[in-house]
Amino acid sequence: MRVCIVCQKEVKGGARIREDPAIRLIRTVKRLLGIARNNELYVCAQDIPAHAQRRKNFEKNLIIASVIGALLVLVLIVLPLLAGRLDVIGLVSALFIGVLIVLAVVFFRYTPAIEQEGSEKKKKRRK
Ligand SMILES: [Zn+2]
Repeated sequence: MRVCIVCQKEVKGGARIREDPAIRLIRTVKRLLGIARNNELYVCAQDIPAHAQRRKNFEKNLIIASVIGALLVLVLIVLPLLAGRLDVIGLVSALFIGVLIVLAVVFFRYTPAIEQEGSEKKKKRRK
C-alpha cells in the first residue's frame, strides 16, 4: 500500500520518499518492535508544501542538535582535561552523549526527503 507520511492516507500519485539509511534503520527498529507495516512511503500532492516545510525544520533541528552535541562533548572533554582528570571512560561517555543527542532528533523528528524532480531516472527518460 502507498501511504502518505503526512496524512497517513492511501495515495495514488504524489511524490515518493527517498529510501535512505535513516529510513532503513527506522524500518529495522519497527520490525524488531513488531510495529512495521511495510507500506510504500509517499507524500500526497496536497501535503507536499507542508512536508517541504517539515523537512526544512528537521534539517534546522539536526544542525542545532549537532552543534549542541559537539559543544557538550567539547565541554565534557575540556573541563576534565583542565582539571587534569580526563580518563577513557569520561571521553567515551562524552562522545556517547553527543551522538545520543543527534540520534534522538533523528529518531523522533525524522522527516525524509522526497525524490527530487530531475533525478537520474527522469533525466534519462527525457532524452
Ligand atoms: Zn497526505
